Amino acid sequence: MEKEKILQYFYKEEAALFQEADQTRKMYCGDEVHLRGIIEFSNYCKRDCLYCGLRRSNNKLTRYRLSVNEIFEISLKASDLGYETIVLQSGEDEYYGIEDLCRLVSRIKKELKCAVTLCIGERTFEDYKSFKEAGADRYLLKFETSDKNLFCQLKPDSSYEKRLECIYFLKTLGYEIGSGNMVGLPGQSVETLAEDILFMYNLDLDMIGIGPFIPHPDTPLKDSQCGSLIDTLKTVAVTRIVTKNTHIPATTAVGSIEIEGRQKALQCGANVIMPNLTPVEYREYYQLYPNKICLTEKPSSCRACLEGIVRSLGRTIAQGCGPSLKKNESKKEVLG
Ligand code: SAH
Ligand code: SF4
Repeated sequence: MEKEKILQYFYKEEAALFQEADQTRKMYCGDEVHLRGIIEFSNYCKRDCLYCGLRRSNNKLTRYRLSVNEIFEISLKASDLGYETIVLQSGEDEYYGIEDLCRLVSRIKKELKCAVTLCIGERTFEDYKSFKEAGADRYLLKFETSDKNLFCQLKPDSSYEKRLECIYFLKTLGYEIGSGNMVGLPGQSVETLAEDILFMYNLDLDMIGIGPFIPHPDTPLKDSQCGSLIDTLKTVAVTRIVTKNTHIPATTAVGSIEIEGRQKALQCGANVIMPNLTPVEYREYYQLYPNKICLTEKPSSCRACLEGIVRSLGRTIAQGCGPSLKKNESKKEVLG
């Protein structure tokens, strides 16, 4: 795969591009939409990413933490509602001990028989190893942008190399890996987006999350432009065509910049939705970006709403935990 070829897709007529992406999704992933229930369990963060509402310098934010027992109770309710994957996400919060998190992961695995995905940022190899041994199946760690200079500016207390090293740690440990980027970051170009996609292709990821950058009023990027719906959809579409059988969510962020954003993403390559299971009283405090959708929906009505959306598109909700579609395939076959 070459960057030039990826760029050509970006310049293709939109309707034709989206149609090709939709056909590719149908051929490699089928009509099923996978649901991954997400619990945002802490909005404390030690980092200061310029784009994010949870950054440590945002002192306007009311901070919260759920106890591991509360997280388990929410997971139990989610499992009763039929969710078979639980995603645990937070800021980078060192409050939770590794042993407590490991016990939580193994309880969810053993007692609820759900797949567990962690999305808790950059950790040591040993931490990732402990979580894996406790039963964690998947890990989400977005690289955000493949432009190193931009990355350094946006994440002043991390490094591009460190982020990639974490992704390689996770690969070595046998996690199913989700990564991805943001679209419309200040200073980003179509070339950068093509490089992001080439990078994701080479990493042979199991899942790829693509969302628009949305400026948060309490961050240094408050006056920047929001990522556009069309660029986000194009990035989803090209990623689907290039990577074929990767799980690609219709992200909450794309649904937050346009009411029908998630439906549109599902029609140009996406095959996953990640409904929010965070207790309603905490949701308003987990605003990585403003105007996040579904701030008041209870998990039960959320499930019904999503079933309606999926059915209206002539698709079905998948049964099972929806493991990687790349399992047991050599990279060559996948890309063939
Ligand atoms: N702290 C962890 C996980 C939580 S942040 C981490 O950073 O990996 C999860 C994702 O939210 C980030 O990867 C980023 O892509 C997204 N995000 C943060 N701020 C955003 C913004 N202003 N607009 C769009 N997405 C944002
Ligand atoms: Fe923290 Fe993640 Fe937000 Fe960065 S993006 S400030 S690491 S929650």
